[in-house]
Amino acid sequence: MPEPTQVLPEVLSQIQKLPASSRPLIICDVDEVVLHLIAHLEDYLHARDLAFLKYEYRLTGNIGHQDNRQPLSSDEVRRLLLEFFDEVSHHQDMVPGAGDALNALAEDWDVILLTNLPGGHNKPVREKLLSGFDISFPLLTNSGPKGGAVAALSRGRPEPVVFIDDSPTNHASVHATLPSAVQIQFIADTRFLNATEMAGHIDLLSGDWQETAAFISAILQGSSRNQ
Ligand SMILES: [Mg+2]
Repeated sequence: MPEPTQVLPEVLSQIQKLPASSRPLIICDVDEVVLHLIAHLEDYLHARDLAFLKYEYRLTGNIGHQDNRQPLSSDEVRRLLLEFFDEVSHHQDMVPGAGDALNALAEDWDVILLTNLPGGHNKPVREKLLSGFDISFPLLTNSGPKGGAVAALSRGRPEPVVFIDDSPTNHASVHATLPSAVQIQFIADTRFLNATEMAGHIDLLSGDWQETAAFISAILQGSSRNQ
């Protein structure tokens, strides 16, 4: 069971620049949720005679040589990912339906994008790519588990806050720090989605934006019926 996490000072300063609002809040990850990542990473690996060893949510120990399946060291994985993000951040594809779903939800909800972007210098590139897809919500960069950032973002907001992310680590961190959050584990890649077991704190496991948007819309309909 992970410990609750504190928000990092550099994330808190981004949060403090956001305009005050009392609307309900969706905090949405970017990679593998709004923009494809695994498909691009797999292409990048194959071009270097590397591959995922399993469709499993783990990068260190899970990227290896195609021929002998020897895993790369954690240093090699870290270096590879930094190079990969520098290269891919300019041209990631949008996950189908993400832009339409988020823009429709934004009529009733505030949407904030919370991304862990290795190589923080890629933030402007990412903002430009997203705005080209008509996705123009505030983009905050974090590093490490997201629980502290999500709790800080939710302060002063009505409950529940919706958190959308592919990573089981981030979901465990949010559950430990803000257990009232509605937690949607969204994984665009069907193979990784199918290999993922739904943890007890996950409210919806999905790889489909229509399903996800309908699930989120029903939250407000449910709470207005209860008033
Ligand atoms: Mg992600």
